[in-house]
Amino acid sequence: MRFLDLHCDTVTECRKRRLSVKCNPLHLDFDRGAAFSEWVQTFAVWIPDELRGDAAWSYYLDNAAFFECECSESGATVCRTYDEIRNALADGKCAAVFAVEGGAVLGGRINRLYELYRIGVRILTLTWNAENELGFGCQSAGGRLKPFGTDVVRAMDELGMIADVSHLDRVGFYDVLDTSRRPVLASHSTSAAVLERTRKDGTDKVFSVRRALDDGQIRALSERGGLIGLNFCRSFLGDSPDDGFDAALRHASHILEIGGESVLAVGSDFDGCEIHPELAGIEYIPRLYAYFTEHGFSRVLCEKIFFENGLHFFKNVL
Ligand SMILES: [Zn+2]
Repeated sequence: MRFLDLHCDTVTECRKRRLSVKCNPLHLDFDRGAAFSEWVQTFAVWIPDELRGDAAWSYYLDNAAFFECECSESGATVCRTYDEIRNALADGKCAAVFAVEGGAVLGGRINRLYELYRIGVRILTLTWNAENELGFGCQSAGGRLKPFGTDVVRAMDELGMIADVSHLDRVGFYDVLDTSRRPVLASHSTSAAVLERTRKDGTDKVFSVRRALDDGQIRALSERGGLIGLNFCRSFLGDSPDDGFDAALRHASHILEIGGESVLAVGSDFDGCEIHPELAGIEYIPRLYAYFTEHGFSRVLCEKIFFENGLHFFKNVL
């Protein structure tokens, strides 16, 4: 099968634990990904909220250098354009797309955005959970996108970089949609309405619902040609013991119902969070695909979710 994933944290996790991206006991590695007939994988470098300024930038550079070595040793192709993705797939290689999770990487300096672009980064998640120089994350006080955030989004539009609103506060989310003239990405998110329906209680509920997309956001992304990667994180899917494939199906169905068939893709969040055992590894993707087809999704729809919607998005935006 063909697979396109919009988000994983495998790079920072491997570097932290001194493991290889080629073969490891984590959620994802190049060896297991090679089982797909075609495989496009977004690899994010996650910037922890404790890091700001030059510390965030040098943390990024260390991780990027590590990952470039891992890619060249494993034969994965770092793709900067849609044509490079097509060529990598035609050669039977992993088409790796570089991302950074956390606009704090820029340290408030726009020239670092141009440097990221030169290195090959094509997706920037504007915030992580806290406030940064661009705006407010979903776990911060919340508020408008800051002037520097507006400058960054405009510069990304000009460069052909993708603004990723996963983790952003709701107010900031709409500011990004108002500022950008391009399709916007929520690389790894779930549905707030489904979470509110299925979760009973718990202190984590507030955060997971704030982190998720409400129906208005899903509709707004869809109307703008945007894309939502379905997050497999256990607490973002739900919290009952059977929240594996079943919960993924609930969120996928709702997002499709609100946003239509072209808005949904996969943003696994592999190696970035705790995942239900049914979904906890790239090797389980074909089983999820089969589960979706056994529960009312057509093969045509599954091809869109697991591959084609993401590829079309990259074609439009890169
Ligand atoms: Zn994340």
